[in-house]
Amino acid sequence: MAVYQHDVLIIGAGLAGMRAGLAAQAAGADVAIISKVHPVRSHSNAAQGGINAAVDPSDSWQDHAFDTVKGSDYLGDQDAIEVLCSEAGGEVINLEHMGVIFHRDETGHLGSRAFGGQQRARTYFVGDITGQAMLHVMYEQLIKHGLRIYEEWFVIDLIVEDGMCKGAVAMEIRTGQVSVIGAKAVIMATGGLGRVYEPSTNALICTGDGISLAYRAGALCMDMEMVQFHPTTLKGSGVLITEGARGEGAYLLNAAGERFMEKYAPNMMELASRDVVSRAEQTEINEGRGIDGCVMLDMRHLGIEVIRERLWQIREIGIDLAGVDVVEEPIPILPGMHYMMGGIKTDVWGRTNLPGLYAAGETACVSVHGANRLGANSLLDTIVFGKRSGMDASERARTENVRMPDNRFAEAVEKQLAERLARPATADRIANVRMDMGRVMNEKVQVFREEEQLKSALEDVKALKKRYETVGVESKGKVFNTDLLFHVELGFMLECAEMICASAVERKESRGAHFRTDFPKRIDEEWLHHITCSYGASGPVLGQAPVTITQWELQERKY
Ligand SMILES: Cc1cc2nc3c(=O)[nH]c(=O)nc-3n(C[C@H](O)[C@H](O)[C@H](O)COP(=O)(O)OP(=O)(O)OC[C@H]3O[C@@H](n4cnc5c(N)ncnc54)[C@H](O)[C@@H]3O)c2cc1C
Repeated sequence: MAVYQHDVLIIGAGLAGMRAGLAAQAAGADVAIISKVHPVRSHSNAAQGGINAAVDPSDSWQDHAFDTVKGSDYLGDQDAIEVLCSEAGGEVINLEHMGVIFHRDETGHLGSRAFGGQQRARTYFVGDITGQAMLHVMYEQLIKHGLRIYEEWFVIDLIVEDGMCKGAVAMEIRTGQVSVIGAKAVIMATGGLGRVYEPSTNALICTGDGISLAYRAGALCMDMEMVQFHPTTLKGSGVLITEGARGEGAYLLNAAGERFMEKYAPNMMELASRDVVSRAEQTEINEGRGIDGCVMLDMRHLGIEVIRERLWQIREIGIDLAGVDVVEEPIPILPGMHYMMGGIKTDVWGRTNLPGLYAAGETACVSVHGANRLGANSLLDTIVFGKRSGMDASERARTENVRMPDNRFAEAVEKQLAERLARPATADRIANVRMDMGRVMNEKVQVFREEEQLKSALEDVKALKKRYETVGVESKGKVFNTDLLFHVELGFMLECAEMICASAVERKESRGAHFRTDFPKRIDEEWLHHITCSYGASGPVLGQAPVTITQWELQERKY
């Protein structure tokens, strides 16, 4: 057991965590970043299609902001969206200066591609590996600036004392040693919770740890009912086929070979907002115009040159995982769980309601995505709000006098882990509970939702939580005990699932990704507010927060 101390501790080494770390260090703080996987294995690595910004002089951040507000189905907070979009251009240029090799057009300028729900092409990209390119460059910067990285350390608990967050208790996975890492400010940048669903486009490490840790520690969560189903996930594996494919001109076809988006979004067609396209696909499938539970994505007309230059990873995914070469054949796709719009409630500087605790990236809810995120706005969210939270956390560390925590916090966690390890093995297993949770969420809390199903999902999750309390940990060792860590992660995921279900039951209207077949209309008079969750012993306690409107009046949403 050891005690470490820093000014700013960042939990998570994806794009939000790395950007926060660089900003905090530039502002003079002693910074440490902790990650349960090697930093470049963070899930940001998987981002494919690009990052949005109004960089071109003929574009404007106000147009980008309007598209984002409309995309959010007017649930996004407009003050935060203004920050996101007005700072986007500078951040993309800054990334290029750091070394991200964004695509250039034939004139030598940064070249963009179209993404869904936007009036013009403003998505900057590196082929279909944009996240990987950004993450590796950012990691080089961390090394260059000598930030302390606790690599393959797993945060098990947050430290709250004197009414503020003062660090975390974490396990070094290689040795099993549990330590206290004290800090004057803590930034949660732990990414999404995709694996609460099965399947999901997210990596197995996306287990909602930070959302649950913050919730247990007293932070508010918000918009938890807003789960994005991406329109193009591969049949079977659920792996993502980037929206960039449709941005480059790919079509969606039903069993009759019709471009069915004509019926649902005659102006924007395949590039309507994700929630709109997902519902259109699901309607085609439900009404018998799909093919074996899917519709088809057709890229053949793009030609081999475009596919080789801009969508080479997608071609590989098709060949390796579906046995389909997209140059030759359409590929079967369907809507699948992709992104969490909700998360830990923050202001535009990443501050939560718990002093000393910040959040940024997919784990946070500023809320710039509201009820539906625009494609390529998430990488932007990680960069803009990662940077801002790093700056503000550094300022707090400079000005706040914090008494550092001691070993007691690690001892309490060790005791709790020892109790888990002492549980006798049962016939039930962690993997069974995890798969059952994933199936419940995927079947009952999906593209189309309805009261009885949502209530039944909530009951199922509560029952799974009870089952979870009795499931033993089979591996008893100290070194790389991933069985133990999966057990801890499952606890985080179940809490997130419960917040999603409870919030989805609560919202009795349809808005963005939350479509209720029993309440098919958006009802602004009653529901133009965020739903918040605070921790309660028998489940989330729901509350409300106002939506900030600045310059864009509510309109009917059509594409
Ligand atoms: C397949 C795919 C493609 C995408 N493509 C795009 C795109 O083209 N454009 C776009 O804008 N968005 C895209 N997104 C969304 C976007 O990639 C993510 O929302 C974003 O990268 C999340 O970044 P993050 O920094 O918040 O979290 P992550 O990159 O997920 O990082 C989380 C970090 O937290 C750490 N962590 C988590 N729990 C713990 C713990 N208990 N202890 C210690 N460390 C912990 C992890 O190790 C990791 O370092 C895509 C998403 C997917 C799934």
